[in-house]
Amino acid sequence: MAQRTTIEIYTRQRTLMHRVYGVCILSCEQCGAEVVMLSPECAAGVLQVTSDAIAGLCERGKLHSITTAERALLICGNSLFIASLPAEKEPQVK
Ligand SMILES: [Zn+2]
Repeated sequence: MAQRTTIEIYTRQRTLMHRVYGVCILSCEQCGAEVVMLSPECAAGVLQVTSDAIAGLCERGKLHSITTAERALLICGNSLFIASLPAEKEPQVK
């Protein structure tokens, strides 16, 4: 029962986000999961960089990207989140 409720919320959110923010949920091949996809402009805003920098991050594999049937480039929100974290430093194990 709880599962059904979750799915309904998910679907509503997807539609709402798509309409309002130009964000949608698609399957990311590299994550192997359904993730939030953002437009390059949106991703640039999140990371506070230019869209050129976003393209560079995609090329270096730092960001996952897909191209939709409409030839729009979308950035994987999962990889974007990881890229937004401060430079990863291995925690010191004592
Ligand atoms: Zn991904």
